[in-house]
Amino acid sequence: MGVTHHDVAFVDLQAQMRAIRDEVDAAIGRVVDRSSYILGDEVAQFEQDYAMFCGTSHAVGVDSGTSALELIIRALGIGPGDEVITISNSFVASALAIVHAGATPVLVDPDADARTMTTDTVRPAITSRTRALLPVHMYGQPTVMEPLRELADEHDLALIEDACQAHGARYKGVRAGALGHAAAFSFYPSKNLGALGDGGMVVTSDDALAERVRLLRNYGHATKNNSTTVGYNKRLDGLQAAVLRVKLARLDEWNATRAHLADLYTKLLEPIDGLTLPQRSPDAESVWHLYVVNVERRDEVQRRLRDEGIATGVHYPVPIHRQPAFHRFGYTAGDLPVSERLSATSLSLPMFPELEPTAVHHVADALRRAVTS
Ligand SMILES: *Cc1c(COP(=O)(O)O)cnc(C)c1O
Repeated sequence: MGVTHHDVAFVDLQAQMRAIRDEVDAAIGRVVDRSSYILGDEVAQFEQDYAMFCGTSHAVGVDSGTSALELIIRALGIGPGDEVITISNSFVASALAIVHAGATPVLVDPDADARTMTTDTVRPAITSRTRALLPVHMYGQPTVMEPLRELADEHDLALIEDACQAHGARYKGVRAGALGHAAAFSFYPSKNLGALGDGGMVVTSDDALAERVRLLRNYGHATKNNSTTVGYNKRLDGLQAAVLRVKLARLDEWNATRAHLADLYTKLLEPIDGLTLPQRSPDAESVWHLYVVNVERRDEVQRRLRDEGIATGVHYPVPIHRQPAFHRFGYTAGDLPVSERLSATSLSLPMFPELEPTAVHHVADALRRAVTS
């Protein structure tokens, strides 16, 4: 390749918006014409669409992925004195939701290669107070669920999916969201399915659980001005739902494009010594929210890519158990070595459906130079 210099973005939300702008404007116009800003028809319709997409009986729109997780935990009756197990290499919100619900987060290492939850570390962490397992489908790659489900059943634990990075992913043909008792999704703008602001969704096939989440998100109102439980204001906006319906119709196509780009990265990067590429499993169909490699001297490699105009990310630079907000749970350095190593070596490459294959080649070339010289 020549030396023509193209800046490569990490995510380009404007490229996606250009392709759907007219439909988005029309959807927003519909909501404005009806002044249906909170819940309403668009939210109800989107909930139906999203439950259908996931293969669950219910979807309940909420104001963020963090709220979705918290309301699931509360609706399950989990609170003070109870423990919920999650992985320390996740985004901090997975553990914040447990704390917000009043329960104690028990942080464990993921499988070093899959980077998702494994029974190897969960089994020894189970105590008489454990009430739920909270696996996170990291980077869009579904957790290997079957052994976790068996372990959860054995100990009578709830299985809650943090599917905030995994809209449309499949494990053994079943969509993320339909793999446990309930699942949380985030519609943060840069997620595979992103709103024009914050948004989230709870999905479940448990009728009673869905009803409790519906109550909790809307002041606990069983009927207007009649709160039967101490609920919250954690609702999805009509505007966001209308926009998300436009995007949901394209999600499978966008995810397929991400998968092609991931295949291209893997093909180009495989021959490079010193790079660990994302593990693939025949059972787990990733939606490639992120393409994360592991590399020594990560910060230096990232700097060299930046010097060549390539934006990258780190997900996540500090494992949850090492963040100050979690010090009170008694963790210290060295407690979770896999999470600590991942945080030191993870590098997320540019990944979004509109990323040009030529840009992937450019990134791969630059990465080879940065790693091997
Ligand atoms: C984005 C994300 C969340 C939180 O979602 P918000 O909508 O930002 O509250 C939770 N868990 C994971 C794994 C995420 O990536």
